[in-house]
Parts: sequence; structure tokens; C-alpha cells
Amino acid sequence: MPREDNRTKIRRDLLVRIARLLTNGTIEEEIDAIPFDMTNEGWEQVRCCIQHDRALLRLRLLALMGFEVEGKEDVVRPLGYYAHILMEHVSNMVSREHVFSQVKEPEAKTEIESSHSSVSLEREANVAVDLTAPLKLNDRFPLHMITEACNACEGARFMVTEACQGCVARPCKTGCPKDATSIVRGRAYIDYEKCINCGLCARVCPFHAIVRIPVPCEEVCPVGAIKKGKDGVARIDHRTCILCGKCLKNCPFGAPQEQSDLFSVVTALRMKRKVIAMLAPAAMAQFPTSPGRLPSALRRIGFDEVVEVAAAADRVAKEEAQEIVERLSTGEAFVATSCCPSWVRAASRLDGIADHVSHTPSPMVMGARLVKEENPNAFVVFIGPCLAKKQEGKEEEAVDAVITIEELGALLVAMEIEVGEEEELPLEETISSYGRGFGASSGVSYAVLHAIDELESEIKIEHRVIDGLSSDSLKEIARWSIDSPESTLVEVMACEGGCVGGPCAIAHPKTSKKLLMKYAGEVNKQV
Ligand code: SF4
Ligand code: SF4
Repeated sequence: MPREDNRTKIRRDLLVRIARLLTNGTIEEEIDAIPFDMTNEGWEQVRCCIQHDRALLRLRLLALMGFEVEGKEDVVRPLGYYAHILMEHVSNMVSREHVFSQVKEPEAKTEIESSHSSVSLEREANVAVDLTAPLKLNDRFPLHMITEACNACEGARFMVTEACQGCVARPCKTGCPKDATSIVRGRAYIDYEKCINCGLCARVCPFHAIVRIPVPCEEVCPVGAIKKGKDGVARIDHRTCILCGKCLKNCPFGAPQEQSDLFSVVTALRMKRKVIAMLAPAAMAQFPTSPGRLPSALRRIGFDEVVEVAAAADRVAKEEAQEIVERLSTGEAFVATSCCPSWVRAASRLDGIADHVSHTPSPMVMGARLVKEENPNAFVVFIGPCLAKKQEGKEEEAVDAVITIEELGALLVAMEIEVGEEEELPLEETISSYGRGFGASSGVSYAVLHAIDELESEIKIEHRVIDGLSSDSLKEIARWSIDSPESTLVEVMACEGGCVGGPCAIAHPKTSKKLLMKYAGEVNKQV
């Protein structure tokens, strides 16, 4: 497992503490103590004072609960007040006699538009922040921006470092197209009034003395959804965000914070409702032990049944293969895969590309619908390393909750369950290695190509894998609306390495890929 940085440690520690209080049934009474308990002995102060650290921990807890904290704070009400509101909300939701009846296609556009939070609108209208008004519960969008935690990092720029030798050649000065670089007291100096951030000076310096200082969140966001405002503080535009989770993983100050579904999941477990866990292929590859021990651990947590999503992935591959063959036979230039919800969100905003995305549901959605058909009253929980699945789950009737591997890890720690010490259960023998391979990049296309082979179609397929979305790869994809790609089948995964590289994974993607291959080969050795 990779070493956790301090920001990740804090996030996971909060999840463990929440899980502990939820399983003990004392969340409402004890949540207010968390910021104090955490900052007791051994806490390395992060901000100006311990009170500021505690205030930020409090905001993180509110965001984890799903309350709107962007640009807001309620300095009056205790966390217990909000925990009470949330627990009432989830208890009603979990106990509701809701019987899954039919498959309802989500209206993606409407969902995305409606999820644009009132916070952003208030920000645009420049409304003054009321520090005493109660915060609103917003569980429509699973990513919250803790604006108070944002460092308001200075805009991306080039900076001269101590390594500058003031050399005779001075290529930084002679090469600058805007005369922004000069030599002042024997060292290069950049006039930011003139600098256009082209980076030529950095490229030509023989000592690598000029470095680029990025704004980490803006740098990694592939769609420009997170941006610094006039106040320097970054905010997320929900209408543009594709929930790839790259900002969540890369902001060194941990300003973006995901919302947790642990509240509803533990409530369902405690209410003794039938709770079924759906383990994504990438989830099976997170713990350095035999994959058969994880379902055992989940049963110990209290899940009544544990389902491998890989079974649905096998079915997705077959349906998608059929769909692709039919669409290509009618002359369509290419078809892109649909299992990555972050990519599907991105494609929905690219003119001329959305129509090329496969209509086959993702393995999570297909698997949940199958589970609900058999168990209409069950509470279905998907578990994977993905942030966008939280939103996909909100839009799909068959999915009741989505927790990440980090949330599952927190639950295991809170309940003192060691996966490696659990009994090893046999894995489902009918699932192919192709279905299990969905968790890593190229896995989906191999599975679909294999299924196409089995159809014995005349159609010739050239495939291509986009391994991780970036602004560059999205620009390339956008061009396909005019100039079709050479490949007829395109697999797109928002995370590098595929789902095993998801933003809420706990194992290093390389380790996880090895574990996934072991899991895929457990029953059927052909991959
Ligand atoms: S990386 Fe972005 S969100 Fe994080 S502190 Fe800097 S400006 Fe704020
Ligand atoms: S989740 Fe992804 S798309 Fe959304 S703001 Fe963060 S980096 Fe951008």
C-alpha cells in the first residue's frame, strides 16, 4: 500500500471516526468531539492555530455529511444538530417501503443541470455570507468544495529559483518573446506584467533554474470545471464537472471533499434491512490477500449477500458487442464504451461525440438491476474506487448507495476486521476472467473484442484505448466529430490505469493491477 500523505491520512481518519460512531449508534451525541479528539496529542498543526485546524475539520465533517459548505459556515449549531438532520433523512430513506419495479432511464441532462448548486448561484450574485444561517443538505452532487480550506494558490506562473547562476549565455533573456526576463543583481528576473506564461525561459535554462508553479486543482481538471475566482479561491462548477476526482486526489490542501454514503449504509445494516454489497472488479484488487477473503469480511460487517460486479460485466461485454456490431454494420464510424460514468458525463458535453457512446448500461447499473429484480426490497450498495459512481448511483433507481474503497476501509478499521484473517470463500465460477478484467485499462475492450469474436461477425474492429482523461485527450476526442478516429471501438477510462487508478482507491494502481490479474485468473486462467 502506498504511504499516505498527511491530507489523505486526515480524510481517512475522519471516515474511520464517522464509521466507528455510526456502528456504535452514537454519531449524533459524539460527532462534535471528533475535531477535538483528532487534534489532541500527536496532531501536527497545519494552519495558523489549532482552532483553525478544528474549524476546518468541522467543515470537512459537514461536507462528508452532504451539507453545503462552499463559501458558508454556521458558527452557531453543533455538528450533532446536523448529524440529527442527516440521520432522520437517511432513516426515512432506508426504511421507506420502496419496491423496485421497473428500469427507469436517467435524464442525464436534467440531473446535471439540477445539480448546479444554489451555492454557485449565490456566489455569482455576490450574496454576503451569513455565519448563523443553517446549512442546507445537498446530497444531489457528491463533491463539495471547502472554500475555507483552499489555500487560494497563486495563479500558475514561472519562477526563478536559487539554481540560477546568472550565466553569460542568458538564453532566458535572449529567448523571451515579450522581453519579460532580465538580469537583476546577477540573477534572472521575470516581470509578471509582461510574462505570457509561454515557458520558453524554463525550457532553455541549462540549469533548470526556472520552474513552473502550477495551481494543482486547475492543472489536473480535464474539463476546466475547477477555477479560482477573483478572490483566488477555487470553486467547482457542477454543470461542467465530470466527477473524475482528480482535484480530490491532487489538491494538496484537501479543499475538495467527497460526500459519504456511510451514513445510509450503516443505517441500513443496523435496521436489519436486507443489504446486498456489489463489489466492483477494482474493489477485489485493493487488499493484499486472496480475493475470496473480501466477501467474507463484508459478511462480517453485516452485509447479507455479496455480489461480484464482474458477473454483470460479462453480460455488459456481450450486449455491448452485439450493439457495436449492429451500429458499425449500419455505417457508424466508431462506438465508444460506456462503463466509465465520468467519461459518459464528459462525452455528453462534446457535440457530435455523445451519440457515439454505447447505450449499454455500466456493469454497476446492469448488476444492480439484476440484483433488484431478484430482491426488490433489498438495499443495494455498490463498492468501488470511483467518485463518479456516486453520482451514477444517485441517478439509478436500482442503486441505493455507493461507497468508495476508502469508506469500506474505514468501516473495516472501525469494526476491527482484518481482511487477510477472514475465511477464504470460493469465487463465483461462472464469471470469466474478461469480466473480472474490467477493473483495469484495456480490460473492457478485451472483453468486448472477445465477445465480438464469439458473434463470428464479418465486421472488422480496430480498437483504441484512451487511458485517462486529460484536456489534451478530450481535445483529440472532440475532433472526432469532424474527423473520425481510425479505430472503430474506443475504450475510454477517465482514470489512468482504469478503475484500479480511481481517486478513492487505497492500493497503489500498480499493486492493484497485479492483484486484479490474480483475481481475473483465479477461476479462468486465460487472461
Ligand atoms: S490546489 Fe486549488 S483548491 Fe487546492 S488550495 Fe490550491 S487553489 Fe485551492
Ligand atoms: S472532479 Fe474532476 S472534473 Fe470535477 S472539478 Fe475535480 S478535477 Fe474537475
